[in-house]
Amino acid sequence: MKLTYKKDLEVRYETDVLVAGGGPAGIAAAVMAAKAGARVLIIEQSGSFGGVGTLGMVPEIMNFDDGEHFLAGGFGKQLYDALFPPCKFEREWMIASPEVTKRVYDRMIAEAGVEYLFFNKLTDAVVEGGRITHAIVSAPEGIYAIKAKYFVDTTGNGALAALSGCGFDFGDESGVTMPATLCSLWGNVDFDTLDIEQQREGVERAYKEGVLTQYDTILPGMKPIFPECKVAGGNVGHAFAVNDTETRSLSDAMTRSREILAEYENYYRKYVVGCENTALLRSADILGVRESRRIHTDKTLTSDAFFASEPFPDEIGRYSYPVDIHPMSPSEKGMADFEKSILLKHERGQSYSIPYGALVAKELDNLLVAGRHIGADRAMQASVRVIPGAFITGQAAGVAAALCAKTGCDTHTLDVKALQATLKEFGAFLTI
Ligand SMILES: Cc1cc2nc3c(=O)[nH]c(=O)nc-3n(C[C@H](O)[C@H](O)[C@H](O)COP(=O)(O)OP(=O)(O)OC[C@H]3O[C@@H](n4cnc5c(N)ncnc54)[C@H](O)[C@@H]3O)c2cc1C
Repeated sequence: MKLTYKKDLEVRYETDVLVAGGGPAGIAAAVMAAKAGARVLIIEQSGSFGGVGTLGMVPEIMNFDDGEHFLAGGFGKQLYDALFPPCKFEREWMIASPEVTKRVYDRMIAEAGVEYLFFNKLTDAVVEGGRITHAIVSAPEGIYAIKAKYFVDTTGNGALAALSGCGFDFGDESGVTMPATLCSLWGNVDFDTLDIEQQREGVERAYKEGVLTQYDTILPGMKPIFPECKVAGGNVGHAFAVNDTETRSLSDAMTRSREILAEYENYYRKYVVGCENTALLRSADILGVRESRRIHTDKTLTSDAFFASEPFPDEIGRYSYPVDIHPMSPSEKGMADFEKSILLKHERGQSYSIPYGALVAKELDNLLVAGRHIGADRAMQASVRVIPGAFITGQAAGVAAALCAKTGCDTHTLDVKALQATLKEFGAFLTI
Protein backbone atom coordinates (compact mmCIF):
# COMPACT_ATOMS: atom_id res chain seq x y z
CA MET A 1 0.00 0.00 0.00
CA LYS A 2 1.26 3.50 -0.76
CA LEU A 3 0.34 6.96 0.46
CA THR A 4 1.00 10.12 -1.53
CA TYR A 5 1.91 12.81 0.93
CA LYS A 6 2.29 16.45 -0.11
CA LYS A 7 3.28 19.36 2.02
CA ASP A 8 4.74 22.88 1.63
CA LEU A 9 7.95 23.07 3.56
CA GLU A 10 9.55 26.11 5.05
CA VAL A 11 13.09 26.73 3.75
CA ARG A 12 14.41 27.61 7.15
CA TYR A 13 18.12 28.07 6.37
CA GLU A 14 20.26 29.03 3.41
CA THR A 15 23.98 28.41 3.52
CA ASP A 16 27.07 27.95 1.38
CA VAL A 17 27.93 24.53 2.77
CA LEU A 18 25.69 22.09 4.55
CA VAL A 19 27.46 19.32 6.43
CA ALA A 20 25.19 16.37 7.23
CA GLY A 21 26.40 14.34 10.22
CA GLY A 22 28.53 15.53 13.14
CA GLY A 23 30.97 12.64 13.55
CA PRO A 24 34.76 13.08 13.29
CA ALA A 25 34.55 13.65 9.52
CA GLY A 26 31.64 16.08 9.84
CA ILE A 27 33.21 18.24 12.51
CA ALA A 28 36.48 18.42 10.59
CA ALA A 29 34.57 19.33 7.42
CA ALA A 30 32.48 22.01 9.11
CA VAL A 31 35.30 23.66 11.08
CA MET A 32 37.70 23.71 8.13
CA ALA A 33 35.08 24.88 5.62
CA ALA A 34 34.37 27.82 7.94
CA LYS A 35 38.08 28.46 8.30
CA ALA A 36 38.31 28.56 4.51
CA GLY A 37 35.72 31.33 4.45
CA ALA A 38 32.37 29.59 3.85
CA ARG A 39 29.10 30.03 5.67
CA VAL A 40 28.61 26.60 7.18
CA LEU A 41 25.72 24.81 8.80
CA ILE A 42 26.13 21.34 10.34
CA ILE A 43 23.20 19.11 11.28
CA GLU A 44 23.49 16.18 13.64
CA GLN A 45 20.69 13.77 14.48
CA SER A 46 21.81 13.28 18.08
CA GLY A 47 22.62 15.73 20.87
CA SER A 48 26.41 15.76 20.57
CA PHE A 49 29.29 15.74 18.13
CA GLY A 50 31.75 12.92 17.68
CA GLY A 51 29.69 10.15 16.08
CA VAL A 52 30.81 6.62 16.83
CA GLY A 53 33.79 8.05 18.73
CA THR A 54 31.64 9.72 21.41
CA LEU A 55 27.99 8.65 21.06
CA GLY A 56 29.23 5.15 20.24
CA MET A 57 31.61 5.31 23.24
CA VAL A 58 34.71 4.13 21.39
CA PRO A 59 37.45 4.50 24.02
CA GLU A 60 40.46 5.08 21.75
CA ILE A 61 41.58 7.23 18.84
CA MET A 62 44.00 5.51 16.51
CA ASN A 63 47.37 6.91 15.49
CA PHE A 64 47.66 10.44 14.13
CA ASP A 65 51.21 9.86 12.87
CA ASP A 66 53.20 7.29 10.89
CA GLY A 67 56.13 7.30 13.31
CA GLU A 68 57.82 10.19 11.53
CA HIS A 69 55.14 12.57 10.28
CA PHE A 70 52.00 13.94 11.88
CA LEU A 71 49.57 12.77 9.18
CA ALA A 72 46.34 14.25 10.54
CA GLY A 73 47.72 17.81 10.44
CA GLY A 74 45.36 20.77 10.51
CA PHE A 75 42.09 19.86 12.19
CA GLY A 76 43.51 16.61 13.63
CA LYS A 77 46.46 18.45 15.18
CA GLN A 78 44.15 21.02 16.78
CA LEU A 79 42.10 18.21 18.33
CA TYR A 80 45.20 16.27 19.34
CA ASP A 81 46.72 19.27 21.11
CA ALA A 82 43.47 19.87 23.00
CA LEU A 83 43.28 16.28 24.27
CA PHE A 84 46.73 14.77 24.54
CA PRO A 85 50.34 15.46 25.57
CA PRO A 86 52.83 16.19 22.76
CA CYS A 87 53.01 13.49 20.08
CA LYS A 88 55.91 11.05 20.57
CA PHE A 89 55.73 9.81 16.98
CA GLU A 90 55.29 6.23 18.09
CA ARG A 91 52.05 5.56 16.18
CA GLU A 92 50.28 5.47 19.52
CA TRP A 93 46.58 4.74 19.93
CA MET A 94 45.35 7.43 22.28
CA ILE A 95 42.85 6.69 25.04
CA ALA A 96 40.24 9.43 25.12
CA SER A 97 37.24 10.02 27.32
CA PRO A 98 34.19 10.42 25.05
CA GLU A 99 32.86 13.03 27.48
CA VAL A 100 35.94 15.24 27.33
CA THR A 101 36.16 14.81 23.56
CA LYS A 102 32.56 16.00 23.13
CA ARG A 103 33.32 19.25 24.94
CA VAL A 104 36.41 19.86 22.82
CA TYR A 105 34.35 19.39 19.64
CA ASP A 106 31.69 21.80 20.97
CA ARG A 107 34.34 24.45 21.50
CA MET A 108 35.95 23.92 18.10
CA ILE A 109 32.61 24.34 16.36
CA ALA A 110 31.84 27.49 18.38
CA GLU A 111 35.30 29.03 17.80
CA ALA A 112 35.04 28.42 14.04
CA GLY A 113 31.68 30.20 13.91
CA VAL A 114 29.88 27.19 12.49
CA GLU A 115 26.12 27.19 12.87
CA TYR A 116 25.03 23.86 14.34
CA LEU A 117 21.74 22.09 14.91
CA PHE A 118 21.39 19.02 17.09
CA PHE A 119 18.39 16.69 16.90
CA ASN A 120 18.04 17.50 13.22
CA LYS A 121 18.04 14.44 11.00
CA LEU A 122 18.62 14.51 7.27
CA THR A 123 15.58 12.74 5.87
CA ASP A 124 15.57 13.38 2.14
CA ALA A 125 17.10 15.50 -0.58
CA VAL A 126 15.85 17.44 -3.58
CA VAL A 127 17.98 16.99 -6.70
CA GLU A 128 17.67 19.10 -9.85
CA GLY A 129 19.93 19.12 -12.88
CA GLY A 130 22.67 17.04 -11.27
CA ARG A 131 22.81 19.14 -8.11
CA ILE A 132 21.29 18.79 -4.69
CA THR A 133 19.29 21.95 -4.08
CA HIS A 134 17.78 21.25 -0.67
CA ALA A 135 18.16 18.87 2.22
CA ILE A 136 14.92 17.80 3.86
CA VAL A 137 15.37 17.67 7.58
CA SER A 138 13.32 16.28 10.43
CA ALA A 139 13.56 18.43 13.57
CA PRO A 140 11.68 18.63 16.87
CA GLU A 141 9.49 21.32 15.20
CA GLY A 142 8.67 19.09 12.23
CA ILE A 143 10.00 18.70 8.71
CA TYR A 144 11.67 21.62 6.90
CA ALA A 145 14.20 22.33 4.15
CA ILE A 146 17.73 23.71 4.03
CA LYS A 147 18.99 25.29 0.84
CA ALA A 148 22.73 25.04 0.25
CA LYS A 149 25.18 25.54 -2.59
CA TYR A 150 27.36 22.57 -1.63
CA PHE A 151 26.77 19.54 0.52
CA VAL A 152 29.15 17.33 2.48
CA ASP A 153 27.84 13.91 3.42
CA THR A 154 29.44 12.81 6.68
CA THR A 155 26.62 10.59 7.92
CA GLY A 156 28.93 7.56 8.20
CA ASN A 157 26.74 5.49 5.92
CA GLY A 158 26.41 7.84 2.97
CA ALA A 159 22.75 8.56 3.69
CA LEU A 160 22.69 11.89 1.84
CA ALA A 161 24.40 10.43 -1.22
CA ALA A 162 22.04 7.45 -1.28
CA LEU A 163 18.95 9.62 -0.77
CA SER A 164 20.15 11.77 -3.67
CA GLY A 165 20.37 8.78 -5.98
CA CYS A 166 24.14 8.15 -5.93
CA GLY A 167 25.41 4.63 -6.52
CA PHE A 168 27.33 2.74 -3.88
CA ASP A 169 28.93 -0.59 -2.94
CA PHE A 170 27.99 -2.37 0.23
CA GLY A 171 30.06 -4.91 2.18
CA ASP A 172 31.73 -7.90 0.54
CA GLU A 173 30.68 -9.66 -2.67
CA SER A 174 27.67 -11.11 -0.79
CA GLY A 175 26.72 -7.73 0.68
CA VAL A 176 27.89 -8.67 4.17
CA THR A 177 29.73 -6.05 6.22
CA MET A 178 32.28 -6.51 8.97
CA PRO A 179 30.68 -6.82 12.41
CA ALA A 180 29.53 -3.96 14.59
CA THR A 181 30.20 -3.48 18.30
CA LEU A 182 28.07 -1.88 20.98
CA CYS A 183 30.76 -0.18 23.05
CA SER A 184 30.42 0.05 26.80
CA LEU A 185 31.53 1.48 30.13
CA TRP A 186 32.79 -0.71 32.98
CA GLY A 187 33.27 0.05 36.67
CA ASN A 188 35.49 -1.31 39.42
CA VAL A 189 38.30 -2.51 37.20
CA ASP A 190 41.54 -3.03 39.10
CA PHE A 191 44.06 -1.52 36.70
CA ASP A 192 46.93 -2.45 39.02
CA THR A 193 46.40 -6.12 38.23
CA LEU A 194 44.60 -6.04 34.87
CA ASP A 195 46.89 -6.95 32.00
CA ILE A 196 45.37 -5.09 29.04
CA GLU A 197 46.93 -7.43 26.48
CA GLN A 198 45.79 -10.62 28.21
CA GLN A 199 42.07 -9.88 28.33
CA ARG A 200 41.34 -12.22 25.46
CA GLU A 201 43.34 -15.21 26.70
CA GLY A 202 40.41 -16.93 28.40
CA VAL A 203 37.97 -16.44 25.53
CA GLU A 204 38.42 -19.90 23.92
CA ARG A 205 37.95 -21.60 27.32
CA ALA A 206 34.91 -19.44 28.15
CA TYR A 207 33.35 -20.46 24.82
CA LYS A 208 33.98 -24.16 25.53
CA GLU A 209 32.50 -23.74 29.01
CA GLY A 210 29.38 -22.00 27.68
CA VAL A 211 30.02 -18.63 29.32
CA LEU A 212 30.34 -17.06 25.88
CA THR A 213 27.87 -18.48 23.36
CA GLN A 214 29.37 -16.92 20.24
CA TYR A 215 32.76 -18.03 18.94
CA ASP A 216 34.72 -14.79 18.83
CA THR A 217 38.35 -14.64 19.82
CA ILE A 218 38.94 -11.05 18.68
CA LEU A 219 38.45 -8.93 21.76
CA PRO A 220 39.86 -5.39 21.53
CA GLY A 221 38.81 -5.15 25.20
CA MET A 222 38.71 -2.63 28.00
CA LYS A 223 40.81 0.53 28.07
CA PRO A 224 41.48 2.69 31.15
CA ILE A 225 39.59 5.86 30.30
CA PHE A 226 39.29 6.97 33.94
CA PRO A 227 41.87 4.84 35.80
CA GLU A 228 41.61 7.03 38.91
CA CYS A 229 37.91 6.05 39.16
CA LYS A 230 38.56 2.41 38.13
CA VAL A 231 36.42 2.97 35.04
CA ALA A 232 37.18 1.37 31.70
CA GLY A 233 35.81 1.98 28.22
CA GLY A 234 34.98 -1.28 26.48
CA ASN A 235 35.24 -2.29 22.83
CA VAL A 236 33.87 -5.71 23.60
CA GLY A 237 31.96 -8.27 21.51
CA HIS A 238 30.69 -8.30 17.94
CA ALA A 239 27.28 -8.27 16.28
CA PHE A 240 27.74 -10.06 12.98
CA ALA A 241 26.16 -9.35 9.58
CA VAL A 242 24.47 -6.08 10.55
CA ASN A 243 23.07 -3.81 7.85
CA ASP A 244 22.80 -0.30 9.31
CA THR A 245 20.63 0.86 6.42
CA GLU A 246 17.85 -1.53 7.47
CA THR A 247 15.75 -0.81 10.56
CA ARG A 248 15.09 -4.46 11.44
CA SER A 249 18.73 -5.44 11.19
CA LEU A 250 19.86 -2.47 13.26
CA SER A 251 17.17 -2.96 15.90
CA ASP A 252 17.94 -6.65 16.31
CA ALA A 253 21.65 -5.89 16.53
CA MET A 254 21.04 -3.54 19.49
CA THR A 255 19.17 -6.13 21.56
CA ARG A 256 21.57 -8.92 20.56
CA SER A 257 24.55 -6.77 21.50
CA ARG A 258 23.14 -6.06 24.96
CA GLU A 259 22.79 -9.81 25.55
CA ILE A 260 26.34 -10.34 24.33
CA LEU A 261 27.61 -7.69 26.77
CA ALA A 262 25.90 -9.49 29.65
CA GLU A 263 27.84 -12.62 28.69
CA TYR A 264 31.08 -10.64 28.66
CA GLU A 265 30.31 -9.32 32.13
CA ASN A 266 30.39 -12.94 33.32
CA TYR A 267 33.47 -13.59 31.24
CA TYR A 268 35.42 -10.69 32.69
CA ARG A 269 34.46 -11.57 36.25
CA LYS A 270 35.39 -15.25 35.94
CA TYR A 271 38.36 -15.25 33.59
CA VAL A 272 40.17 -11.91 33.71
CA VAL A 273 42.45 -10.91 36.57
CA GLY A 274 41.61 -7.40 37.77
CA CYS A 275 37.97 -7.68 36.71
CA GLU A 276 36.66 -10.02 39.42
CA ASN A 277 34.32 -7.33 40.72
CA THR A 278 33.69 -5.34 37.60
CA ALA A 279 30.21 -4.27 36.51
CA LEU A 280 28.88 -3.25 33.14
CA LEU A 281 27.78 0.33 33.85
CA ARG A 282 26.19 1.10 30.52
CA SER A 283 26.21 0.39 26.84
CA ALA A 284 26.17 3.06 24.17
CA ASP A 285 22.92 4.33 22.70
CA ILE A 286 24.14 3.81 19.18
CA LEU A 287 25.69 0.76 17.62
CA GLY A 288 29.31 1.07 16.55
CA VAL A 289 29.03 0.31 12.85
CA ARG A 290 32.36 -0.24 11.12
CA GLU A 291 31.20 -0.63 7.56
CA SER A 292 28.23 0.38 5.47
CA ARG A 293 27.84 2.01 2.03
CA ARG A 294 30.90 3.05 0.05
CA ILE A 295 29.81 5.79 -2.30
CA HIS A 296 30.73 5.80 -5.99
CA THR A 297 33.15 8.66 -6.51
CA ASP A 298 35.30 10.10 -9.30
CA LYS A 299 38.21 7.94 -8.10
CA THR A 300 38.22 4.86 -5.91
CA LEU A 301 40.94 4.43 -3.29
CA THR A 302 42.04 0.83 -3.90
CA SER A 303 44.47 -1.49 -2.14
CA ASP A 304 47.27 -0.91 -4.65
CA ALA A 305 47.55 2.58 -3.11
CA PHE A 306 48.49 1.08 0.27
CA PHE A 307 52.19 0.61 -0.58
CA ALA A 308 52.37 2.82 -3.68
CA SER A 309 55.46 5.02 -3.79
CA GLU A 310 53.92 7.81 -5.88
CA PRO A 311 51.27 10.10 -4.39
CA PHE A 312 48.05 10.73 -6.30
CA PRO A 313 48.33 13.98 -8.28
CA ASP A 314 45.18 15.11 -6.46
CA GLU A 315 46.44 14.01 -3.02
CA ILE A 316 44.54 15.68 -0.18
CA GLY A 317 46.21 13.84 2.68
CA ARG A 318 48.02 10.70 3.72
CA TYR A 319 47.26 8.12 6.36
CA SER A 320 48.68 4.96 7.84
CA TYR A 321 46.74 2.30 9.70
CA PRO A 322 46.49 -1.46 9.06
CA VAL A 323 43.76 -3.08 7.00
CA ASP A 324 41.54 -3.83 9.97
CA ILE A 325 38.73 -6.01 8.61
CA HIS A 326 37.13 -7.49 11.71
CA PRO A 327 36.03 -11.15 11.43
CA MET A 328 33.18 -11.60 8.97
CA SER A 329 31.69 -14.55 10.85
CA PRO A 330 31.87 -16.07 14.35
CA SER A 331 34.00 -19.00 13.15
CA GLU A 332 37.61 -20.13 13.10
CA LYS A 333 37.84 -19.04 9.47
CA GLY A 334 36.45 -15.61 10.35
CA MET A 335 39.06 -15.17 13.08
CA ALA A 336 41.92 -16.43 10.86
CA ASP A 337 40.91 -14.05 8.05
CA PHE A 338 40.99 -11.14 10.50
CA GLU A 339 44.49 -12.07 11.71
CA LYS A 340 45.60 -12.17 8.07
CA SER A 341 44.00 -8.82 7.18
CA ILE A 342 45.62 -6.94 10.03
CA LEU A 343 49.09 -8.02 8.83
CA LEU A 344 48.74 -5.55 5.99
CA LYS A 345 50.41 -2.60 7.69
CA HIS A 346 53.12 -0.03 7.15
CA GLU A 347 56.65 0.25 8.45
CA ARG A 348 57.55 3.38 10.39
CA GLY A 349 57.42 6.46 8.16
CA GLN A 350 55.20 4.82 5.50
CA SER A 351 51.71 5.99 4.62
CA TYR A 352 49.30 5.97 1.68
CA SER A 353 48.05 8.82 -0.44
CA ILE A 354 44.35 9.76 -0.47
CA PRO A 355 43.02 11.36 -3.67
CA TYR A 356 40.51 14.20 -3.83
CA GLY A 357 38.58 12.13 -6.39
CA ALA A 358 37.64 9.61 -3.66
CA LEU A 359 35.59 12.37 -1.99
CA VAL A 360 33.69 13.58 -5.06
CA ALA A 361 30.31 11.92 -5.54
CA LYS A 362 30.35 10.76 -9.14
CA GLU A 363 26.75 11.38 -10.09
CA LEU A 364 26.28 14.88 -8.69
CA ASP A 365 28.06 18.20 -9.16
CA ASN A 366 27.87 19.61 -5.62
CA LEU A 367 28.24 16.68 -3.22
CA LEU A 368 31.39 15.63 -1.38
CA VAL A 369 31.64 12.63 0.89
CA ALA A 370 34.02 12.13 3.83
CA GLY A 371 34.60 9.66 6.63
CA ARG A 372 33.99 5.97 6.52
CA HIS A 373 31.89 5.90 3.33
CA ILE A 374 34.31 7.55 0.89
CA GLY A 375 34.99 5.91 -2.47
CA ALA A 376 37.27 3.08 -1.42
CA ASP A 377 37.49 -0.68 -1.76
CA ARG A 378 36.86 -2.77 1.34
CA ALA A 379 40.51 -3.06 2.34
CA MET A 380 41.16 0.67 2.17
CA GLN A 381 37.87 1.46 3.89
CA ALA A 382 39.02 -0.80 6.71
CA SER A 383 42.03 1.46 7.19
CA VAL A 384 40.90 5.00 6.40
CA ARG A 385 37.66 4.61 8.41
CA VAL A 386 39.28 5.25 11.80
CA ILE A 387 38.98 8.63 13.50
CA PRO A 388 42.21 10.35 12.33
CA GLY A 389 41.45 9.10 8.79
CA ALA A 390 38.00 10.68 9.08
CA PHE A 391 39.62 13.96 10.21
CA ILE A 392 41.82 13.95 7.10
CA THR A 393 39.04 13.27 4.58
CA GLY A 394 36.58 15.51 6.44
CA GLN A 395 39.01 18.43 6.47
CA ALA A 396 39.68 18.08 2.75
CA ALA A 397 35.99 17.81 1.86
CA GLY A 398 35.17 20.88 3.96
CA VAL A 399 37.92 23.01 2.43
CA ALA A 400 37.00 21.79 -1.06
CA ALA A 401 33.35 22.72 -0.52
CA ALA A 402 34.36 26.18 0.70
CA LEU A 403 36.60 26.74 -2.34
CA CYS A 404 33.80 25.61 -4.65
CA ALA A 405 31.50 28.09 -2.94
CA LYS A 406 34.05 30.85 -3.47
CA THR A 407 34.44 30.25 -7.21
CA GLY A 408 31.06 28.69 -8.03
CA CYS A 409 32.75 25.75 -9.79
CA ASP A 410 31.44 22.23 -9.52
CA THR A 411 33.10 19.62 -7.33
CA HIS A 412 34.57 17.69 -10.30
CA THR A 413 36.38 20.67 -11.79
CA LEU A 414 37.66 22.33 -8.62
CA ASP A 415 41.21 23.65 -8.97
CA VAL A 416 42.99 20.87 -7.07
CA LYS A 417 46.23 22.84 -6.79
CA ALA A 418 44.37 25.61 -4.97
CA LEU A 419 42.83 22.99 -2.68
CA GLN A 420 46.23 21.48 -1.94
CA ALA A 421 47.73 24.91 -1.27
CA THR A 422 44.96 25.80 1.19
CA LEU A 423 45.19 22.44 2.92
CA LYS A 424 48.95 22.88 3.36
CA GLU A 425 48.40 26.38 4.69
CA PHE A 426 46.07 24.85 7.31
CA GLY A 427 48.72 22.30 8.31
CA ALA A 428 47.69 19.22 6.30
CA PHE A 429 50.44 16.72 5.53
CA LEU A 430 50.78 16.36 1.75
CA THR A 431 53.72 15.09 -0.30
CA ILE A 432 52.76 16.86 -3.49
C1 LIG B 1 33.10 -0.51 17.50
C2 LIG B 1 34.03 0.43 16.85
C3 LIG B 1 35.26 0.66 17.41
C4 LIG B 1 36.11 1.57 16.83
N1 LIG B 1 37.31 1.80 17.42
C5 LIG B 1 38.07 2.81 16.97
C6 LIG B 1 39.22 3.20 17.68
O1 LIG B 1 39.58 2.60 18.69
N2 LIG B 1 39.91 4.27 17.20
C7 LIG B 1 39.56 4.94 16.07
O2 LIG B 1 40.24 5.90 15.70
N3 LIG B 1 38.49 4.55 15.37
C8 LIG B 1 37.74 3.53 15.79
N4 LIG B 1 36.62 3.16 15.12
C9 LIG B 1 36.29 3.83 13.85
C10 LIG B 1 35.67 5.18 14.02
O3 LIG B 1 35.05 5.38 15.26
C11 LIG B 1 34.63 5.50 12.95
O4 LIG B 1 34.93 4.85 11.77
C12 LIG B 1 34.60 6.99 12.78
O5 LIG B 1 33.87 7.51 13.86
C13 LIG B 1 33.97 7.37 11.47
O6 LIG B 1 33.69 8.73 11.48
P1 LIG B 1 32.56 9.33 10.56
O7 LIG B 1 32.50 10.77 10.87
O8 LIG B 1 32.79 8.90 9.17
O9 LIG B 1 31.21 8.60 10.98
P2 LIG B 1 30.45 8.45 12.36
O10 LIG B 1 31.38 8.43 13.49
O11 LIG B 1 29.54 7.31 12.17
O12 LIG B 1 29.58 9.78 12.45
C14 LIG B 1 28.43 9.99 11.66
C15 LIG B 1 27.56 11.04 12.34
O13 LIG B 1 26.48 11.36 11.49
C16 LIG B 1 25.27 11.38 12.23
N5 LIG B 1 24.21 11.03 11.30
C17 LIG B 1 24.01 9.86 10.66
N6 LIG B 1 22.93 9.92 9.86
C18 LIG B 1 22.43 11.17 10.01
C19 LIG B 1 21.32 11.84 9.45
N7 LIG B 1 20.50 11.23 8.58
N8 LIG B 1 21.08 13.13 9.82
C20 LIG B 1 21.90 13.76 10.72
N9 LIG B 1 22.98 13.15 11.28
C21 LIG B 1 23.24 11.88 10.93
C22 LIG B 1 25.48 10.34 13.31
O14 LIG B 1 24.64 10.55 14.39
C23 LIG B 1 26.96 10.55 13.64
O15 LIG B 1 27.13 11.53 14.62
C24 LIG B 1 35.74 2.24 15.66
C25 LIG B 1 34.50 2.02 15.08
C26 LIG B 1 33.65 1.11 15.67
C27 LIG B 1 32.33 0.91 15.05
